[in-house]
This record gives sequence, structure tokens and C-alpha cells, in this order.
Amino acid sequence: MADQQWVSPGILYVVSTPIGNLADITERAVKTLQQVDLVCCEDTRNSGRLMDAIGCRRELMSLHEHNEAERAAAVIDRLKNGQSIALISDAGTPLISDPGFVLVNEVVGAGLSVVPVPGVSAVITALSVAGLPTDRWYFEGFLPHKTTARQKALAKLVNETATTIFYESSHRIEESLRDMQSVFGEQRPVVVARELTKTFETFLRGDLASVLEQVQADGNQRKGEFVILLAGAQKKKVETIDEQAHILAMHLKPLLPPKKAAAVLADVFGGSKKTYYEYLLQLG
Ligand code: SAM
Repeated sequence: MADQQWVSPGILYVVSTPIGNLADITERAVKTLQQVDLVCCEDTRNSGRLMDAIGCRRELMSLHEHNEAERAAAVIDRLKNGQSIALISDAGTPLISDPGFVLVNEVVGAGLSVVPVPGVSAVITALSVAGLPTDRWYFEGFLPHKTTARQKALAKLVNETATTIFYESSHRIEESLRDMQSVFGEQRPVVVARELTKTFETFLRGDLASVLEQVQADGNQRKGEFVILLAGAQKKKVETIDEQAHILAMHLKPLLPPKKAAAVLADVFGGSKKTYYEYLLQLG
């Protein structure tokens, strides 16, 4: 019986591969990689090993941040000639802190089809077991390498109420956690997911001070690959204010900037300007 056809001519397949455990590759990913004419990958040696492991011999073409734009043109030509092409990265889902955006954008712009072959990504893998809220989450990806730029990037996130997720490497895990502690405070809950799906998979949970302490105390906790998941900032509780103050607040809101309106309310009714200011903002 002829093998099922898993790919069609002229389509770019964006294929997820494992982040550690080879058994996490999907059947559809294997079939797709077996049947496409060309596999674009970050590093042909890395992906060559994966292809060997899953018994696929296909043409490999390197595509990384430095040659993506020029390779996109060649890929589009081949798609227009009816070839089917896969894009993979070194690990996980392409485009997620990995190359591929330029290619996908240009292929879509050329009016060609891009089809996902979904699978693992470290961010979702970590989020699924962190035990932090998942209704809203924000992915920051990698922080800048230099301390000042990293602290600035973190400072912008200080009021973020969604669970905030970072990728980090062994080189900067300690420094990044230390900077997070200084920006978000010792008590902000955090989960550090290390070596997901691999032999030394570890989860450190606690507040920033205790997780940083564990990472500093044990060299093994600084080895490998990391996802850091930080609990969002607590929504500020605005104290209730009495009905008279509410009525005046509603009148002042369209007439004065919130800071000035808060000062008037504090003068008339007593209490802190900050409370009225937050109340006015909450009125929308
Ligand atoms: N495209 C990948 C994905 O879908 O997750 C991410 C690629 S990015 C270049 C590599 C980073 O992802 C690592 O530095 C680490 O932060 C995270 N990562 C990848 N594999 C991981 C693993 N097994 N455990 C923990 N973090 C991982």
C-alpha cells in the first residue's frame, strides 16, 4: 500500500521538534520531515542528528538570523516551483525566540501557504506545570545580556499583572534572578523550570529571595536551560470612598487631570491624595 501523502506542493511547513526528549516529536512532524523536498534549519549539523534519529534523509539548508532574508527569496522560488519545504529550529517551535519570522512573513507576503505542524515549546511546557495563573501571561523571552539594559527591561515590567515568562541560559540565570529580586522585591513568587523534558528536569518554586538562594547555593541549579516564570504584580486595592466623595469625583473627572482632581478630593474630604488618585484611575 502506498504511503499516505502528508505534504502538498508549494507549502512551507513550520515544524516543532523536541526540547530535550526525542520521544516528544509528533508522528505528523516525522512524516512531514520525511516527505518534504527541503528542510530549512538553524544548524545543519544539529538538525542532521535529529533527522538521523528519526530516520529522515532530506536536503538541509541553513537558515539563521544572518542569512534569513537572502534565503527567504530562494525558498519562495522553490515553493513557487512546487516543492514542499519544512522549517525547523534547533529545539522546540521555530520563531519562538528562534529564527523564522522573516521567512514566514515573506512567504505569507508572497501569497503562499504556511502550515503549522505544532508540538513542544519550552514556554508552554513550563507554564503547564508552574502552578501560576495561566489566564493571562506575557512572554518577554530573553532579557538583554548587559546589566543596565536588563534592569531597564525589568523595570518596565514592574506593574505587569500577568504571569511573566523569560527564557534564560546558564550564563546569566543567577544575575537575572538577582536583578529580578532588586526590581520586583524579595517576596514576588517565581518558578524556575530547568532542563525541561530532560534527565535533570528541576522546578524551583518560592519567592525570589528563596529561589535565588537555592540557585546560588547549588552549582547544578545554574546548569542547563531555563524558563523563569514570575507571578504578576498584585492588583492594587483601592480603598472604598464614601458616596459624597464619589459624586464629586465623577464631576471632577472630566474637568481636571486625575492628579489635580485627587488633590481637590483630599482637601475637601481628608485622606490621602494617592487613594483618590487610584480611585479616579479606576473609574476609567
Ligand atoms: N524555540 C524554542 C521553544 O519553542 O521553546 C526556544 C529556543 S531559544 C533559542 C532557547 C531557550 O529556550 C533556552 O535558552 C531556554 O531558555 C529555553 N529552553 C529551551 N529548551 C529548554 C528546556 N529543555 N528546558 C528549559 N528551557 C528550555
